[in-house]
Amino acid sequence: MSLFSNVELAPRDPILGLNEAYNADSRTTKVNLGVGVYFTDDGKIPLLRAVQAAEKQMMEKSAARGYLAIEGIAAYNQGVQNLLFGKDSAILTAGRVVTAQAVGGTGALKIGADFLKRLVPNATVAISDPSWENHRGIFESAGFPVQNYTYYDPETRGVNFAGMVKSLEALPAKSVVLLHACCHNPTGADLTTAQWQQVAALCKAKDLIPFLDMAYQGFADSIDEDGAAVRLFADAGLCFFVSSSFSKSFSLYGERVGALSIVTESKDESTRVMSQLKRVIRTNYSNPAIHGGTVVATVLNDPELRAMWEQELAEMRDRIKLMRNTLVSKLAEAGAKRDFGFVNDQRGMFSYSGLTADQVERLRAEFGIYAVSTGRICVAALNSKNIDGVAKAVASVL
Ligand code: PMP
Repeated sequence: MSLFSNVELAPRDPILGLNEAYNADSRTTKVNLGVGVYFTDDGKIPLLRAVQAAEKQMMEKSAARGYLAIEGIAAYNQGVQNLLFGKDSAILTAGRVVTAQAVGGTGALKIGADFLKRLVPNATVAISDPSWENHRGIFESAGFPVQNYTYYDPETRGVNFAGMVKSLEALPAKSVVLLHACCHNPTGADLTTAQWQQVAALCKAKDLIPFLDMAYQGFADSIDEDGAAVRLFADAGLCFFVSSSFSKSFSLYGERVGALSIVTESKDESTRVMSQLKRVIRTNYSNPAIHGGTVVATVLNDPELRAMWEQELAEMRDRIKLMRNTLVSKLAEAGAKRDFGFVNDQRGMFSYSGLTADQVERLRAEFGIYAVSTGRICVAALNSKNIDGVAKAVASVL
């Protein structure tokens, strides 16, 4: 009898499992619309020119690889703060924000969750219905009960805001509310500015702890516009958490570049909060990695590279929008029995297509087109070569 005899086989991660199935598919016409990764029109993950230029500079420096500080690279953390809160933000000047480089957006959520577990051990965590599936897993593994708040309305394909307010109002004080700062994953349905204001006011009135997750800054409208929710919470005078990620915006998925920022009430609080956050990080992974953080810090702090990056980010954003438009018109051309105009209104990488699990399964079996069973498709994986086939296949399974 081995130590592991009774270990059960865990279910595959629903999204990463799709990748494995896709890789094993021998059809040359196969298309992977499952995973949340941006591909170029040639079907490749881009290595941004700004990233290549920063890497060249780094190579030339041949810097030694000692340990980073527990909280990571100072210039990186400052770059994150400027992107999230705006360079001249009053709360930055007041020292009210602490930021730690983290192992991707996932790592940021994890250290945030572990810190919260020490701060409010009996809290409930509320995530949107639906949400990025890992939100539940991360907070449950930190020891929190996780429940859903009402979010998506399949009838209107938008946010059921009255329902959302009702569920948030019913939460006990000091509950943690996980909010998608922009480009909601998986639905692509975001709140309006007026709705964000209402949510911020509600969090304040009900003493809830907002945790904004920002994985797609720059993928909807622009860096500044996509950061509006974060700034609005700052202006509302709240204390809150922000997890952020450069996986998508820098196309640095495998470098694991993210950050956790915590907004406190004063500089003194910031010092104490950071000291505790460092303990959490120390016992998780000790300190973050050098490469990805240095690339991002180099790009953000060099005006020329920064402009180049913003241009490349805009190119990614525009290509996604073009794919949305093209998909809508090709579906109509293919005689789809439904109007897909809503796809143009969804924001970020994904479209919550409304396809049922059966239809998604038919797309896989009959056409080698892989999507998440909830009907989520990654629009950023469409291109001028595969979009005709995808539109025809989707029209035929409706
Ligand atoms: N939050 C959301 C909403 C996401 O979609 C993702 C990435 N799929 C993450 C966090 C995690 O980002 P990272 O890959 O940087 O860990």
